[in-house]
Amino acid sequence: MDFPDFSLDISLLEKAKEPEPEVTYDLLILGGGPAAMSAAVYAARKMMNFAIITKDFGGQVRETSEVENWLGFQSINAKDLVDMFEEHVESFDIAVSLGPAITDVKKDEETFKAYTDDSKTYSSHTVIVATGKHHRPLNVPGEKDLVGRGIAYCATCDAPFFKGKKVIVAGGGNSAFTTAIDLLKVGAEVTLINFIKGWQADAALQERVKQSDKAILLDYHQVVGIEGKDRVTAVVLKNRGNEKEEKLDTNGVFVEIGLLPNNESVKNLVKLNEQGEVIVDCSCRTSVEGLFGAGDVTTVPHKQIVIAASEGAKAALSAYDYLINKSLI
Ligand SMILES: Cc1cc2nc3c(=O)[nH]c(=O)nc-3n(C[C@H](O)[C@H](O)[C@H](O)COP(=O)(O)OP(=O)(O)OC[C@H]3O[C@@H](n4cnc5c(N)ncnc54)[C@H](O)[C@@H]3O)c2cc1C
Repeated sequence: MDFPDFSLDISLLEKAKEPEPEVTYDLLILGGGPAAMSAAVYAARKMMNFAIITKDFGGQVRETSEVENWLGFQSINAKDLVDMFEEHVESFDIAVSLGPAITDVKKDEETFKAYTDDSKTYSSHTVIVATGKHHRPLNVPGEKDLVGRGIAYCATCDAPFFKGKKVIVAGGGNSAFTTAIDLLKVGAEVTLINFIKGWQADAALQERVKQSDKAILLDYHQVVGIEGKDRVTAVVLKNRGNEKEEKLDTNGVFVEIGLLPNNESVKNLVKLNEQGEVIVDCSCRTSVEGLFGAGDVTTVPHKQIVIAASEGAKAALSAYDYLINKSLI
């Protein structure tokens, strides 16, 4: 498998003009994944005065290698797909803040204020929150200190570094098994650890891993600690059947135990469901007038690129309707 190298990418959109704090935009789009980029295309075609504020471009699409369910392409390299999204967005004259994170969004009468961690404040009459999801951490001792030094959350990005090494994969679903397959391909010895009894991944994926003599599967076990000074050297595992703990030497830990919504910027403003997703209706409206949600950060089911992109389009059109109805445009 060819692993895409995103690290040397010079984003086309890095060249875009910076948003201006003194302007009150029609729309601020928060995020840079498929939902946000699609919203940008629709907003541009409606001639809205808007800006994108995002930490990066591509979002989770950057974490995979091949995409086989984007209409029109039987298979497309994920990097090429993100490049095409960027080229499309860049063809419009759009203001982009790339890098800083949104920390908070507030509403004062008809105007929203979005605050970034580089101490800037942007204003607008509508907002689309399209900030996606991030990997759920294990939250065990040693994890935070060793991220990037043996602890990884993205097989596409990091599996090649574990050629011939011993690796633990925490999780039992499709992501965990896909990660295990990526690691087996580079000759790693993989131990899969699942918290519950059995495995949730599709049978075909399970079969591929179970066929390998370099894979060990341990269900009903829990990673309770990660050890290492400069790099990961071991994990502490608890057998949930007999509560006994044991240490297992390893060079790395891949954490694949689900995703959490990036809701920090709006969590004090809008209604969220129990999973922390922004509650939206079928027009992408949230509990706050003028604030719309799109993609994986929302309650919309089936987290996929094509769904995020269509939700982004819907959110932009709903924001436009809102501005027209309020005579704000
Ligand atoms: C490993 C992996 C493989 C996948 N494979 C496929 C596949 O083959 N086919 C498929 O259809 N789907 C796939 N998916 C799912 C798909 O990638 C997501 O459904 C889709 O990317 C969601 O798009 P989004 O725009 O809602 O969010 P994201 O892609 O998560 O993008 C969110 C964006 O918001 C930005 N952001 C987050 N917080 C902030 C903040 N506070 N301030 C500023 N910016 C912020 C992020 O930097 C990012 O740019 C895969 C996902 C993963 C993790």
